[in-house]
Amino acid sequence: MSNQTPQRPGTLIDTDLSDQAWADLLSPARRQFVTRAGLGSAALVAAGAAGLAPAAFAQSSGQTPAAAGTPPRKREPGKSPWGYETLKEPTTRPLSVRPGEKTLPTKPRAYTDIKSYHAHIYFDEDSYEKAALLRRWSGERFRVELGNWNLEPRGPHVTPSFYFGFTNDLLPILVPWLQLNSLGLTILLHPNTGDGRADHLYYALWVNRSQPVNAYNWPKPADGGPEQLEQIYPNITPTVAIET
Ligand code: ZN
Repeated sequence: MSNQTPQRPGTLIDTDLSDQAWADLLSPARRQFVTRAGLGSAALVAAGAAGLAPAAFAQSSGQTPAAAGTPPRKREPGKSPWGYETLKEPTTRPLSVRPGEKTLPTKPRAYTDIKSYHAHIYFDEDSYEKAALLRRWSGERFRVELGNWNLEPRGPHVTPSFYFGFTNDLLPILVPWLQLNSLGLTILLHPNTGDGRADHLYYALWVNRSQPVNAYNWPKPADGGPEQLEQIYPNITPTVAIET
């Protein structure tokens, strides 16, 4: 379902369609859930989808993406949807890069907050064969949860990608293994702590280079209430001994 052609909405005329546009941008497949079943059902249906923060997404669909980038409710023919006062808008400070904090923290977070990891491997039309090789190599050697191919942006991932999830015990092996076997691809390693937004945006580890990750419109977890944790269900049985 991840390879469906995006259904771009037409002219945006109200905030409902604006929300749909966001859903469409982030995940065409999920947008259909939202459209068909309503937001509550979408959260349930999406709960098992790999590589995403389902609860976060469903909630975010009911929000405007960003106040400064939200077109007004009605678009009048022949007029700018932004209105004519944009130059007068105040220059405001973006939200803190440390989620949920307005001041410096008083103590470090416990590393044991990390319950598992995702590796997202990005590629394009020129590098997909490298991605295929790395996918096969990793699946042969590691007990991971391997997702399917995403040939278009999916969730917060803005280029084609595939993903595998893995348990913490594999981290000391997979980090050096991916460093030596990345084939030059861009790889995001992010932890799962029960805050999908922060996991993607603030706790990331990159191989080779970083690229944009669009999770900024995902809501933050309610105070003291982490999201449902991303669970790893390995679906790959290794057949090749890791080279040492
Ligand atoms: Zn992920």
